[in-house]
Amino acid sequence: MAKKKGIVTLEGAVKTAEGLSYKGVILEPVVEKCEGCDRSVSFEDTDYCPTYAQPARKWAHGVCNFATHVRAEVDKAGKVKVNPLKASKRAARGR
Ligand code: SF4
Repeated sequence: MAKKKGIVTLEGAVKTAEGLSYKGVILEPVVEKCEGCDRSVSFEDTDYCPTYAQPARKWAHGVCNFATHVRAEVDKAGKVKVNPLKASKRAARGR
């Protein structure tokens, strides 16, 4: 099986009152927690997620399982912890 291409463009998408219409799906803008996720795609100054149309809903249930920048881990107490990925790399790049 061929690997999925990493880069998605929202070419042909149309902004509507409900959100961004793309291939018959209404995309809602990404939420704050999506920041840093490789899956979010910018379209006319707003970021959308072609992977999950309603990012806010996704995060309302915990951690987005599609996120590329954080990973959810369940600790021994059963609590979900969010671990940023590549944080050290980012810090190193900072200065
Ligand atoms: S994959 Fe998840 S975290 Fe990434 S932009 Fe989409 S909704 Fe946000």
